[in-house]
Amino acid sequence: MLGILAVTPDSPASSTGFRNIDTLISCNGNPLNDWIDFLYSANGLFIDLVFSRGPVIRKLTVRRNPSVDWGFVFKGQKPAVCRKKCIFCFVDQLPRGVRQSLMVKDDDVRYSFIQGTYVTLDSDDTEYAIDKHLTPLHISVHTTNPLIRGTILGTRRDEPVLQMLNKLSEAGIEMETQIVIVPGLNDGEELDKTLEDLLEVPGVVSAGVVPVGLTKFRDGLPRIRRPSGAEALQIVNQCNMMRSKALKRRGNSWVYPSDEFFIMAGLDIPSSSYYETCTLRENGIGLLAELMMTSGKEFTGSGIVCTGTLAAPFLRSLLKGSDYRVIVVENTFLGPYIGVAGLLSGADIVRSVKMLPDSYNSVILPGVMFNHDMLTLDDFTPDIISQLIGREVIVIRDLEELA
Ligand code: SF4
Repeated sequence: MLGILAVTPDSPASSTGFRNIDTLISCNGNPLNDWIDFLYSANGLFIDLVFSRGPVIRKLTVRRNPSVDWGFVFKGQKPAVCRKKCIFCFVDQLPRGVRQSLMVKDDDVRYSFIQGTYVTLDSDDTEYAIDKHLTPLHISVHTTNPLIRGTILGTRRDEPVLQMLNKLSEAGIEMETQIVIVPGLNDGEELDKTLEDLLEVPGVVSAGVVPVGLTKFRDGLPRIRRPSGAEALQIVNQCNMMRSKALKRRGNSWVYPSDEFFIMAGLDIPSSSYYETCTLRENGIGLLAELMMTSGKEFTGSGIVCTGTLAAPFLRSLLKGSDYRVIVVENTFLGPYIGVAGLLSGADIVRSVKMLPDSYNSVILPGVMFNHDMLTLDDFTPDIISQLIGREVIVIRDLEELA
């Protein structure tokens, strides 16, 4: 039984007459015990629902346009609140006053399956994922050393993960894993051991290795630091050693260090073939290689292209000879270590662009800095930014849009 918490106005569910007092019993003949059951069963343009309203059991068919959500919000659908206290948790490093939705700490195996968010995994998650056959999952491993993992997750107890990964693997569940490197904790030999351990788990289909992200708001938080250039170089080398092993054993390179490591180490960004079929772009892995694939394109038009410190040199080389001017927007909102374009604030964009002469009418912003509601971290919309800088704002998702 699945209680309805709310029905979205003007949705297929509301126009069929569903209300928040109803409880769904089955969908297309399948019993519903939770929201995931509904997602599995509610395919296609029509669904046959059996539901109860008070003591009365009814049946209804709901029809929708494929691009429209059914419009049900179920009880228990909200992401589970995280009970960890990771030493690098981004939410703990945000300034006061950011909108409430950014402050939500979730750690939910269902959302790992549905949205690809990372989950730290516990035994209940493992049982649940096996029961519902949730595959693939995205899992924050960080290390297979239980003691160090407990320190990283801030739980002050051993946090073994290998046994759970093996159980999931035996149940046919595929896992994309992530290792956030905290120098002095899970790098060096610990990283080698973690990669060796993970390579032994058949269901672990990839390991993404990323550096810890630190904002300037760390008062009262554990003292940790970013990897140095030499450490970044070592990490890339360790990953490359493991890639050769993986290639022999699995037929693909399996482990992918993030773009930031190559930049920190002063190495060239690998070509896109290095990333094979890896789909970890949102984690900053393979993004720059993808960007460089636009090399040789002709870019017409003109404007100011805003980006963070990481992508700026690459954008400059790609747009060389065109009438676009690339500017580096310094991240004063979160601090100098945050170089990705996706975490730029509206205020930083306004400040940087206002300092420029008026020779360009258009300002091009990366789409990744806006959420689904087209808001930046500090709640600026493209329209507000445009008003404040007195220029047209164009939001692009892909550099090819300028070609
Ligand atoms: S799992 Fe860790 S990083 Fe994720 S929300 Fe919880 S404390 Fe933060």
